[in-house]
Amino acid sequence: MSGIDGLPPLRDVIAAHELRARKSLGQNFLLDLNLTARIARAAGDLSQKDVLEVGPGPGGLTRGLLAEGARRVLAIEKDRRCLPALAEIGAAYPDRLEVIEGDALEVDPLAHLTPPIAVAANLPYNVGTELLVRWLTPADWPPFWDSLTLMFQKEVAERIVAQPGSKTYGRLAILAQWRAEARIVMTLPPGAFTPPPKVSSAVVHLTALPEPRFPADAKVLEEVVAKAFNQRRKMLRASLKGLHPELEGLLETAGIVPTERAEQVSLEQFCALARAVKAARQR
Ligand code: SAM
Repeated sequence: MSGIDGLPPLRDVIAAHELRARKSLGQNFLLDLNLTARIARAAGDLSQKDVLEVGPGPGGLTRGLLAEGARRVLAIEKDRRCLPALAEIGAAYPDRLEVIEGDALEVDPLAHLTPPIAVAANLPYNVGTELLVRWLTPADWPPFWDSLTLMFQKEVAERIVAQPGSKTYGRLAILAQWRAEARIVMTLPPGAFTPPPKVSSAVVHLTALPEPRFPADAKVLEEVVAKAFNQRRKMLRASLKGLHPELEGLLETAGIVPTERAEQVSLEQFCALARAVKAARQR
C-alpha cells in the first residue's frame, strides 16, 4: 500500500494490468507518488476546482491530484489498457474521478467540467504543444481554465517562458506570456520516468490573466509573430514583407527598428505592431 492513498504502489498496478509503456503513445510514466503529489501541489489549491487531466496512464498524477484534494478530476486517456487501473482509483475516491476513453485532441471536456477549472497533465510529447496552443488561443478570453500545470520536455518548457534576446524566444513565448503568467516550477531528470525518456522534463505553471497584458487583435498578433519567427534570422523589414505595403512606417510606429530581428522584439512591441497593422488595414 502506498502512503498517499492506501492504493497499491504504481509498480504493482503496472504489473497487475500489464501496462508495458508504448512509445507511440508517448508513454513515460511517473511512478513516485511523492513526486506526483508535488506536481499536484504546484497546481495550487484545487479543493474548489475541477481538474482536467490529459493522459492519466496508470494514474500516478491522478492519485496525486485526488490525494492533494482536487474537488473532481476528469481524466481523458487514449489507451484503454489503463482504464481498469483508473477504475480502481475512482473506487477509492467515490464521485471524484471521471474517466473518458478517447483522444484529447478530439474530446470536448467542457460538458463534463464545472468552473473554476484547472488543467494538470504529464502530457504525451506528441500532442503536448498542440494542446497548449489550443488552450492559449481560444475564441474568447478569459479561457475555460484558470491555470495550466503541465509537464513538457525541458526544451519546450524553456520556449514557453523565454524572454527576448534568447534563442528559445519565439511564438510559444509570445502566445503564453501575452495572456498568462508562465513559470517553470520543477525540473525532472529522465530517471524520474519509467521508461526514462532521452531528455530532461520540466513542469510549467501558467495562470490565465483576466485581460491580455497589452491590447492587440489575437489573429493579427498571431499572424505577425508567426511571420516574424518563421525567418528569425532575417531582419524584420525582410521577414515581415507582405504584411502591409507601409511596413517600415508601421514598425517605426511600434517603436521597432526595421533592421532588428524577431528575437529582439518585446511582447509589448509585437502588440503595438499588431495594432498598427490592424489600423492601417482598416484605413
Ligand atoms: N500521467 C501519466 C504519468 O504521469 O505517469 C502518464 C503520462 S504519459 C507521458 C502520457 C499519457 O498520455 C499516456 O498514458 C498515453 O497513453 C496518453 N495519451 C497519449 N496520447 C493521447 C491523446 N491523444 N489523448 C489522451 N491521452 C493520450
